[in-house]
Amino acid sequence: MNSSEPVIRAVNLKKYFPVRGRIFDVIRRRPKLYVRAVDDITFDIYEREIFGLAGESGCGKTTTGKTILRLIEPTSGKLFFKGDDLLKYDGSKLKEFRRRAQIIFQDPYESLNPRMNIYSIVEEPLRIHKIGDKNERLEMVFKVLEDVELKPPENFIYRRPHELSGGQRQRVAIARAMILNPEFIVADEPVSMLDMSIRAEILNLMLKLRDEYKLTYLFITHDLAVAKYICSRLGIMYLGKLLELGSAEKVIDEPYHPYTRALISAIPTPDPREKIGEIPIKGEVTSPINVPKGCRFYPRCVRAMDICKEKEPKLMEVSKGHFVACHLYA
Ligand code: SF4
Repeated sequence: MNSSEPVIRAVNLKKYFPVRGRIFDVIRRRPKLYVRAVDDITFDIYEREIFGLAGESGCGKTTTGKTILRLIEPTSGKLFFKGDDLLKYDGSKLKEFRRRAQIIFQDPYESLNPRMNIYSIVEEPLRIHKIGDKNERLEMVFKVLEDVELKPPENFIYRRPHELSGGQRQRVAIARAMILNPEFIVADEPVSMLDMSIRAEILNLMLKLRDEYKLTYLFITHDLAVAKYICSRLGIMYLGKLLELGSAEKVIDEPYHPYTRALISAIPTPDPREKIGEIPIKGEVTSPINVPKGCRFYPRCVRAMDICKEKEPKLMEVSKGHFVACHLYA
């Protein structure tokens, strides 16, 4: 891999889920319906980068993360891991990829087995991947617990998840992901269930681990303030599409797309006069089954023009490294 080769490359990635038809639809031979969760997106994630995906719930960001990890298979498109065709991995190669690429889930309350103690939870991936003997595994568990700042580890290893605070539980979930020394992590809303006071601590821990473990992250969030704090580049998703992509700072401080501007308007600020480019948004998110023909944001956009109803805008570079899919900038 050369230094400019992305860790992850997704090309025209799609994931459609079939909708179970009613018997009446089958008899009438109505065409099958699909939820277009991820609908033709292309992006790269570079080494040591924290690449963010943001948008409202149901926009396809979590499905994108799971598809990249091959936890679900894409409908079409290509995926590359450090230049290798990821969709060709199977058997031992896929198992090795599962060691090198890990996920941290949103909910530390649900992602940890309540019947296991912290030692067993963090050690389990080592046993699954047959790494180390008993003593080596003990040493590795102690080290990773120290790395996630659960110190001293002997105060934690015999406890169960319900005996820990929310922040401590998320540190255990991070330790479990880190124990295999991965290169790539999908962090799916890792701080959204935590109290405000704990969020910054966990984000700072993730930054520290990025440097210590030379990690690359896909960071999924609906919170643009969090995205601005931690992400280097950011993609804004809506109904399975990327509508805007660029450095997190530019996307949030100088947004182009009406949808991004509307999301930013919704971020609470101590002084409402500070709000930039305030732009309203109409109605609710359209169903991902009945995606509009032209621009999929058309039904909610206050800037919509006639062309928007007919023609889907393509993601185009409008300033260096800053891409937007909107006819206003064509
Ligand atoms: Fe609005 Fe048209 Fe731009 Fe879509 S393409 S965001 S409808 S202005």
